[in-house]
Amino acid sequence: MTPDLLPVQMFIDGVWVDSVGGSAFESTDPYFAKPWARVPDSDAEDVDRAIQAARRAFDDGPWRRTTGRDRARLMRRLAALVEQNADELVTAEVHDNGKVIREAAGQINALPAYYDYFAGMADKLTSDVLTTSYPDHHVFQLLEPRGVVGAIAAWNSPLLIATYKLAPALAAGCTIVLKPSEHTPVSTLRFAALVEQAGFPPGVLNVITGAGEVGSRLVADPRVDKVAFTGSTATGIRVAQSAATHLAPLSLELGGKSANIVFADSDLEAATNGVVAGIFAATGQTCVAGSRLLVQREVHDELVERLAARANEIRLGDPMVRETEMGPLAFSAHRDYVVSRIEDAVSEGAELICGGRAVDEFGPGFFVAPTIFAGVSNAMRLAQQEIFGPVLAVIPFSDEAEAIRIANDSPHGLAAGVWTGDVRRAHRLVRHLQVGTVWVNCYRLVSFDVPFGGRKMSGYGRENGPEGMHEYLVSKSAWFEMSGATRDPFVLG
Ligand code: NAD
Repeated sequence: MTPDLLPVQMFIDGVWVDSVGGSAFESTDPYFAKPWARVPDSDAEDVDRAIQAARRAFDDGPWRRTTGRDRARLMRRLAALVEQNADELVTAEVHDNGKVIREAAGQINALPAYYDYFAGMADKLTSDVLTTSYPDHHVFQLLEPRGVVGAIAAWNSPLLIATYKLAPALAAGCTIVLKPSEHTPVSTLRFAALVEQAGFPPGVLNVITGAGEVGSRLVADPRVDKVAFTGSTATGIRVAQSAATHLAPLSLELGGKSANIVFADSDLEAATNGVVAGIFAATGQTCVAGSRLLVQREVHDELVERLAARANEIRLGDPMVRETEMGPLAFSAHRDYVVSRIEDAVSEGAELICGGRAVDEFGPGFFVAPTIFAGVSNAMRLAQQEIFGPVLAVIPFSDEAEAIRIANDSPHGLAAGVWTGDVRRAHRLVRHLQVGTVWVNCYRLVSFDVPFGGRKMSGYGRENGPEGMHEYLVSKSAWFEMSGATRDPFVLG
């Protein structure tokens, strides 16, 4: 192992530890194309200890007895610590992921609001007295925390994805075993140090590191009461099958192939900007990437020309430099995959407008040029399968009905963008698109107070907003007999 690697440890039961067996792996900085951190590789015993700790903290520990106000106070302290230590978290994400600093800073600076928002819900979890058809009974419904949450994150926005799960789970009173991606574990471990500093009791948050096998052990364990997963559709299906063996409720935030739909009556300048934001921000490595551009024929050539001009101007380079707009892909195998998908698109007959290759003039890392294909048919693999890189497929359409048909002709259903000056048309599109989020004359906005999630192969369950909170709660109904009457023991209800 390289001696100058940053050594990091896992956080289990309030203690910083290496893996029991002592094995470790390296996290690579994608800009320098070099390992930069040495991270414990959990074995079965580590996973077991983390689940045990979360179980204990939930079943017997102080967390179970905290009031919503106690939890809110800790969460607000955590929010303040995240704010104070934002630079360190940002730096860790840039090194782990290659995310450009302006995007990383935007995400990390947004995190405190998530903890504040869900802290605000923690002490407002009321029980309802139910008005029922049984006047002689007092019936009420309690909302209780689900228990131990197994949370698994993807690598593209490590702490934002984790926060979508942690903030509501903590507010609800759950305990958590979190596994970040093996490609980007460091910022999550730094964050765990802030959880410790905020004063959360041991076992409330445990972070274990490692690859898919670690995640699969976590999901399969019957002591885990709820699974929250963000990752690819293929892994999501395996996770669903495994969680089903012990019937753990599941939220799945999976891949997408979102349509960004531009009508001829739109503001083309704004649409150009929105299409660029949809596919080239974060080097296209976002679940909501607007990777299919559906454009009305009248403005097709003009929009493609504008996009190609803008794509050629995108500043690639060192993600730590403020001016950089596009960083490298997050790891070398992913760069190779994206390049292979570009080659596949060419072999399918798509017309390469710009980019289309790996580039090495911007630094030693895993760069791919912003790539645009025109002449794409929605039946092509290029239009049907997620690439998760800076590759745009342009598909022309004639009218609104055709745009809707093409947009919905996808296994995925995560998000869509609509660019139009016609508000009635925009409302019709919102109703017809089979997705979890529609952005009208904007793209790629997320917030703690707006539910987010997919349909079809993009998953189920919602994160953020009140619905995000309910993923971590379960209701219990209680009946009290009030009249003293004796009921017929052989009759139900
Ligand atoms: P991935 O599915 O390869 O891995 C995701 C996580 O699951 C990682 O932590 C990984 O170690 C773990 N894992 C792998 N195999 C597992 C198994 N059998 N059981 C349990 N855990 C397992 O995905 P990725 O490459 O890390 O992320 C990219 C994907 O995530 C893309 O498809 C992207 O669209 C999707 N994503 C979705 C959202 C969303 O909110 N819908 C957000 C971000 C990313």
